[in-house]
Amino acid sequence: MIELSDRIKAMEESATIAMSRKSRELRAEGKDVISLSLGEPDFTTPEFIKEAAVKAMEDNFTMYTPVPGYLDLREAISEKFKRDNSLDYPTDQIVVSTGAKQSIANVVMSVVNKGEEVIIPAPFWVSYMEIVKVSEGIPVVVNAGIDNDFKISGKQLEAAITDKTKMMIFSTPCNPTGSVYSKEELRDLADVIKRYPDIVVIADEIYEHINFSKDHASLAQFEDIKDQVVTVNGVSKAWAMTGWRLGYIGANKEIAAACTKMQGQFTSGTCSITQKAAIAALKKDPNVLSEMIGAFKSRRELVLNALGKINGLKTNVPEGAFYVFPDVSYFYGKSFNGITIKNGNDLAMYLLNEANVALVTGEAFGDKDCIRISYAASEETLTEAMNRIKIALEKLA
Ligand code: PMP
Ligand code: GLU
Repeated sequence: MIELSDRIKAMEESATIAMSRKSRELRAEGKDVISLSLGEPDFTTPEFIKEAAVKAMEDNFTMYTPVPGYLDLREAISEKFKRDNSLDYPTDQIVVSTGAKQSIANVVMSVVNKGEEVIIPAPFWVSYMEIVKVSEGIPVVVNAGIDNDFKISGKQLEAAITDKTKMMIFSTPCNPTGSVYSKEELRDLADVIKRYPDIVVIADEIYEHINFSKDHASLAQFEDIKDQVVTVNGVSKAWAMTGWRLGYIGANKEIAAACTKMQGQFTSGTCSITQKAAIAALKKDPNVLSEMIGAFKSRRELVLNALGKINGLKTNVPEGAFYVFPDVSYFYGKSFNGITIKNGNDLAMYLLNEANVALVTGEAFGDKDCIRISYAASEETLTEAMNRIKIALEKLA
């Protein structure tokens, strides 16, 4: 009998991926399940990007690529950082990977030693926790709370710092809460970070363009901490390219070189064709995304309106990404058909079985009183899903 490693045994399966797998299986069994579980745009990749990919194949870009990415791609990323974020990252401070997920893993594995602490404000994206654990770091969760629009303050950050702290990881716009940090809120965090020059912060900005109210602000804009910040981004969300697999970082030279070394042993450079397609995406004026962002904004209104009509659900107003993260604790102790709700897990299972709507429990994101609804689906689908949820929740008494 072959024993698997302790490392893999200790790892949780990604809850977002597990729930989308489960809804696929239920659909294959003939169940009419609506899946609002996976955070994936339902748009298809724009034609001009696909054309660049076809041209790359015709031009025989089919071989191994430089590990950190083609130079012309890194030049396009450097320009993008200047254009959209006023950040100056030369090409030797940029590393392209097979997705923001790998970029985060590269950085954590390259920076965190066994036993060092990584501060993760909750709610957080599911994979941060497991990437830190597999790297033998110790996750230190700081609860942001719905009353603070799920954002932490500099004071909260400072209270969590110890002499073992090595890193903090957060996203803005945030998955799963949609919260967006303003420039002032980031400055408040930066004032603390600058007093601890050995701490690295991963700022995950993958939802940068899906932002409905504020201008996107990057943590790395503050020169006094820029070298401590690793800016993570990618093409999955804004350009509807989840399956193409490309993410990137802007970092200080040492961290960039370390990530290149890491992926030189693990994966090599990402797909040559994807890289050429990503150049087309990143060179495009992001204003062309306004239609898609407008669609996400109307869907957000639809979902917030519908949730507002259900007694007991408490939610913040997400300003970005495509998730709503309602608190469901009102339903604790309520029952239907012999099922009693004790936490967000129970409620997510109840909605899957009773309403045929798949969502992800908040526990996977560090808040067991919540559930995550992804509204990256058509208005028609969302309307039907919201009706089903309302009917099922009203049965609980
Ligand atoms: N960060 C966050 C906050 C995400 O929601 C996702 C979604 N997959 C990722 C990173 C990873 O993105 P990618 O598809 O580029 O790996
Ligand atoms: N980031 C998306 C989500 O949170 C995609 C799934 C994943 O990569 O975990 O649903």
